[in-house]
Amino acid sequence: MEKDATQIPTSPLLVFDLECPICFNVKIKNYALKAKTLPSRPNVFEVPVYEESPKFSHVDFNELTQTVCYHCFYTGSKKSDFNYVDPHTQSRSYSEANKKIIEHWQKNPKEIENVLMDCFINASSFTHPRTSEGVIASYKLAIYKAGLEILYKIPYGNFKRAKLYIKLYYLHNMYYKNFNKEYLIKAAEDLEEVFRTSDFPEKSYEFEVCYLLVAINTRLGEDGKAGSYIKALDQSKGELAGKAKDNPNINLQDINKWLSKAKNLWQSRTDPEVWKLEKPLNLF
Ligand SMILES: [Zn+2]
Repeated sequence: MEKDATQIPTSPLLVFDLECPICFNVKIKNYALKAKTLPSRPNVFEVPVYEESPKFSHVDFNELTQTVCYHCFYTGSKKSDFNYVDPHTQSRSYSEANKKIIEHWQKNPKEIENVLMDCFINASSFTHPRTSEGVIASYKLAIYKAGLEILYKIPYGNFKRAKLYIKLYYLHNMYYKNFNKEYLIKAAEDLEEVFRTSDFPEKSYEFEVCYLLVAINTRLGEDGKAGSYIKALDQSKGELAGKAKDNPNINLQDINKWLSKAKNLWQSRTDPEVWKLEKPLNLF
């Protein structure tokens, strides 16, 4: 068991206290899911769906991935976005967030408040268990921050924001039981930009991006676009297979996985079970 975290009995969560790098609020709660607690399976849009476990209380960890300062609404997905004192060594760590983002956050409190215009939140909205309003607010803030990263040309901003829009779509759907097309459209726009500029954290993400564009466009009824990204995956496979003939280190496992997932999804697209976000089907 890790010593540098507080453990809540039967909870699969680790809780850390962090300090805000903007307003120095020291009462920010950050949550992490302990390893080997709740099993998860990806749904059709690659959002992990957490299953029940007899040993641990159930949480949907998607609700807790964003850590938020309830004073200035600074948001981060990593501990290293914040300042903190390691309870084990007492050494102090300072936020590794990009300076331009920190500066923007300090200088634009009104702009940030506007992000939360329609959200009903208070100081306890960002602790566990979070209200649906708190969860939605945390994603709106994270999306706003990813937008700043795009503005300041920090790599992978569009990829990050697309993933956030997809999760917001999933959570919105779970809370309000309606099909919020707008978030999927925004995710697709970001993913198209990622594909166009090859702005991937790693080459292997290219296949996931293509798969997600197949899934989203199929859901939106954009069959032509979905087909073009299946074709892109097919083409990548052809190119890789060609290279693999001369280079035994090239592995086709990844591309095969995403291509077969995309094709299986396409073939079963009229089955409503495929689109149930909280009950993932195995598409491989
Ligand atoms: Zn703050």
